Amino acid sequence: MKGIFPVERFQSIRTPFYYYDTELLRKTLRTINEEAGKHDNFVVHYAVKANANPAILRIIREAGLGVDCVSGGEIEAAIKAGFKPSGIVYAGVGKSDWEINLSLDNNIFCFNVESLAELEVINELAAEKGKKARVAFRINPNVGAHTHANITTGLAENKFGIAMRDMIPVIRKAEKMENVEFIGLHFHIGSQILDMGDFIALCNRINELQEELEREHIKVENINVGGGLGIDYEHPNRVPVPDFKSFFDTYSRHLHLLPGQKLHFELGRSVVAQCGSLITRTLYIKQGEVKKFVIVDAGMTDLIRPALYQAYHKIENITSEDAKETYDIVGPICESSDVFAKQIELNATKRGDLIALRSAGAYGEIMASQYNCRQLPKGYTTEDLNII
Ligand SMILES: *Cc1c(COP(=O)(O)O)cnc(C)c1O
Repeated sequence: MKGIFPVERFQSIRTPFYYYDTELLRKTLRTINEEAGKHDNFVVHYAVKANANPAILRIIREAGLGVDCVSGGEIEAAIKAGFKPSGIVYAGVGKSDWEINLSLDNNIFCFNVESLAELEVINELAAEKGKKARVAFRINPNVGAHTHANITTGLAENKFGIAMRDMIPVIRKAEKMENVEFIGLHFHIGSQILDMGDFIALCNRINELQEELEREHIKVENINVGGGLGIDYEHPNRVPVPDFKSFFDTYSRHLHLLPGQKLHFELGRSVVAQCGSLITRTLYIKQGEVKKFVIVDAGMTDLIRPALYQAYHKIENITSEDAKETYDIVGPICESSDVFAKQIELNATKRGDLIALRSAGAYGEIMASQYNCRQLPKGYTTEDLNII
């Protein structure tokens, strides 16, 4: 074992694969429950889209979190993993009829509705079933987050949510509909947010909206502030558990909840990112004209974040202790963007060495594709490898 990885055990497993440290996942979940539990009325959902590996879902369900889904497939995966439909919230700008019907049939807790057009369809489909759908409106708070442009969602220019000026009219419309019940407001400003100031800006905006609603005598039972808490990609060992204390305390301090209101969170990345690593084997060392390449057997099909968002993952050679050298780490896919890192230092690397791409538990395995007719990577937990 070098560092945190059961390297000996890895040797017999076909690469590339995801490895999930379930001890760290459980510790993360305990921290979430402890910190959220200090505040009355906080309800935490797990955003399934970050990682829907059944073993991961089971552990998160055991910790008692609800779920946030963004598709019918995720609702099916959550129910299959044993989550109660009464703890499911469902967001998404483009819900299909079958997805709405599936949600109605399962009596999920709430639809996070993103347009008037969608509200009308939910009302119609619920009427056909003689049901009343609980709805929250996702409001676009026009709050920017200091994160990668591709993962901000709360600006007026983004496709998500309902504009603030339409909030009251759309609530009034819902009140007149027979088959929907208005139960709350929903927000989600982006992902990988580390600056608590961004969440404070959201709190301030919600406080303003709440005042507006009070003036109109509109009651709101649930406020859902989405997810977005970031993780430390640079220091997965030093900061394995994100700062949930600051996160929840920030909301507690800055968001003025009214008596009886529940505050919901939808955390994805911060729950699962640090517990996962993509393990890949070195195929070749190639001396290019100006640089040295480590060609590994994982590619952008297994972990697309570097190609898609120029995301940084810490990369380690977990089978070499030799002096560091400088390499580009690249995959086998026929795309120039199939590069995990450029000009990084690794312990001197040779064919057969195992390489770990750290902090890959969120938006990793779930985003894998079969491009180039590749097999999807498997995911193994600590328990799967029988090492605890
Ligand atoms: C993606 C998403 C989340 C989770 O975001 P993280 O940054 O992974 O915490 C929460 N809510 C909604 C609506 C989302 O789309």
